[in-house]
Amino acid sequence: MTLLKDVTDCSTYSVRGLDDQLIAQMNRISPGLLVRIDDINNVKLADAAVHPWMQRAAKVRLQNAVVARGKQIIINSAYRTLAGQMLLYQHYQNRRCGITAASTPGKSNHNNASAIDIEDSQGWRPVLQANGWRWIGSFDPMHYDCTDPGITSINSISVKAFQQLWSIVNPADKLADDGIFGPATASRLRFSPAEGFPGMEPARILRLTQPVQAGRDVGDLQLALRKAGIKLDKADSIFGPSTDKAVKDFQAANSLVADGIVGPITRKIILSYTPKGEVTPPSNPPINPPSNPPINSSINLAEIFYTYDTQGLFTSQQQADLKWLQSQIPQATLEQFSKLWRGGS
Ligand SMILES: [Zn+2]
Repeated sequence: MTLLKDVTDCSTYSVRGLDDQLIAQMNRISPGLLVRIDDINNVKLADAAVHPWMQRAAKVRLQNAVVARGKQIIINSAYRTLAGQMLLYQHYQNRRCGITAASTPGKSNHNNASAIDIEDSQGWRPVLQANGWRWIGSFDPMHYDCTDPGITSINSISVKAFQQLWSIVNPADKLADDGIFGPATASRLRFSPAEGFPGMEPARILRLTQPVQAGRDVGDLQLALRKAGIKLDKADSIFGPSTDKAVKDFQAANSLVADGIVGPITRKIILSYTPKGEVTPPSNPPINPPSNPPINSSINLAEIFYTYDTQGLFTSQQQADLKWLQSQIPQATLEQFSKLWRGGS
């Protein structure tokens, strides 16, 4: 484990693990706050260190500009998390990586997910300016800020996301989640692992929301659903009503609670249908019925546990866990258990 304070690598890619957890937590606080931009046609990220996230209003403005020019845009920088900015600030303080100026976390519009640095800035300037982007001048020629009125200040949410994450992992050293980047928060950030906090689920919960969720994780989900034999006409990386229905169909076919919410358990089972390196092409959707018919067991573990839950402490998540557990036990074993349970032989 490398603590953020000990990272000497110049690229912010070295804090990607922590970044992903921070972004997931921000989207938990404010669902849909940050959306992926790498699913826009003709948007190319310069390298893997570029974070493909922006505020939704900025994404729409970017998409409009790219469509208007009909050319590929290469993005060198978009969103920078609290952790990424802290790393740059550390490099600056330690005179590393040729960084001559860096603000403390929360001061740049890159931290607000509303700015981009691009290649061919001069070529893009007229169309970007006509589509709600402001060029800030020749002292930072690659940089554009989105001026859409839908852009909000997300600094306090990004600070709050870190404070909450820290407190979940360090219950004996809780930070107040006041969204203020003070000395206590800054020192905890420096002592956070660059790879992300161990044992945390970095993936966001996927479900039908308003506005809808979009991104590569939704696309992966859609491809895996098809692979599992669920009918889904469009694999467009957008979690709309048809994906919601497909998830519910999958859950019903796998003895899960059919609530359309892709949490850790549903995700694990669905994604088991996508072996590494194997991708189902989005054309020619399969129309065959679900390959896993519902398990029609003679005993229902969840129901048994309900009879002991006199205080109503049993959550729907635990119910889902038990249904999953039940789906893993061979039918013959369940039948034998059911006989013993009911006093048969
Ligand atoms: Zn910039």
